[in-house]
Amino acid sequence: MKFDLLKTDTETKARRGRLHTAHGVVETPVFMPVGTQATVKGMTPEQREALGAEIILSNACDLFVRPGHELIKGQGGLHRFMGWDRPILTDSGGYQVFSLSDLRKIDDDGVRFRSHLDGAPLFLSPEIAVDVQSALGSDVVMVLDDCLAHPASHDDALRSMRRSMEWARRCRTRFDSIEDNPNALFGIVQGSTFPDLRAESADRLIETGFDGYAIGGLAVGEPIPEMYDIVEAQDPLLPPDKPRYLMGVGTPRDLIECVARGVDMFDCVMPTRHARNGWLFTTEGHIVIRHARFRNDESPIDENCECPVCKKYSRAYLRHLYVSKEILSSILNTTHNLFFYLDTMRRIRHFIESERFSELLAAARSSGAQ
Ligand SMILES: [Zn+2]
Repeated sequence: MKFDLLKTDTETKARRGRLHTAHGVVETPVFMPVGTQATVKGMTPEQREALGAEIILSNACDLFVRPGHELIKGQGGLHRFMGWDRPILTDSGGYQVFSLSDLRKIDDDGVRFRSHLDGAPLFLSPEIAVDVQSALGSDVVMVLDDCLAHPASHDDALRSMRRSMEWARRCRTRFDSIEDNPNALFGIVQGSTFPDLRAESADRLIETGFDGYAIGGLAVGEPIPEMYDIVEAQDPLLPPDKPRYLMGVGTPRDLIECVARGVDMFDCVMPTRHARNGWLFTTEGHIVIRHARFRNDESPIDENCECPVCKKYSRAYLRHLYVSKEILSSILNTTHNLFFYLDTMRRIRHFIESERFSELLAAARSSGAQ
């Protein structure tokens, strides 16, 4: 994998880049739609491609539990299995296991947990996490990390961060043992909200050496301004010639704010999950489509949106589909929300290229929309 840093904004830390992977080129900053179960819910790969998705995220841990990485490998790998021949980034499972906190047990070897499907005991180590993602054929493999709940004490955060850094080193060793490996391995900076721990974590990862650096352990309940400060403090600690990926963030406003702080890659379930709940993003903030005020509303979701849904359907129709619990409701709402996110990234890239990113940032701040 190769990363070209094409341009750095002069007024902010925004970066315009290009990621070359085994399955094609990704223009950054980029948003990765989340396809947990080898599908972005409510969308075919062709529909995603038409909206301009360049890379998607899938969850190795979920696929490890069902249908199993060996089965997918036997089917020709994850790209072929799900009919998507563009890049895929897989997360290692740390976060999934973390969200099942009452069913897990973590020690230095790895994490023992129970399947949420049938209660079967499972074990994930740094080595297994790399093997699973490699069997899937992921273009960007993430290290296994120990995710910590928020808030955490300095002692707990230190212990967890050092364990994560040791696991990252073991992932690197395993990854490097794979012959002719065309894929990339990203490290994940941890350390909760403590600047000294984040700095130590970044140093340790850089010493090991990765193809890209993720900022992990955020968007777990800390206040938004605190998250922005942590992301900003990360910028000078990370090598400028490698991509930076902020995991699990966020709202359209968060994307612009974090691009301004030097982030190149994002993923979040928000646009797709919110779509299924009838929460739709617009340039003036969100709307909740079930509200009675849209019952007879002929206008599109967003007058300024160029997506196929806004070109054709009214809020009244979308509200009707939602309250009638029609499958098409999820499909159309997902189409609009994903387009909105992908288009936000296109505008960000365009404004960085034309040296007007600060204008976009100022407009986002003055609009008040999240
Ligand atoms: Zn739209």
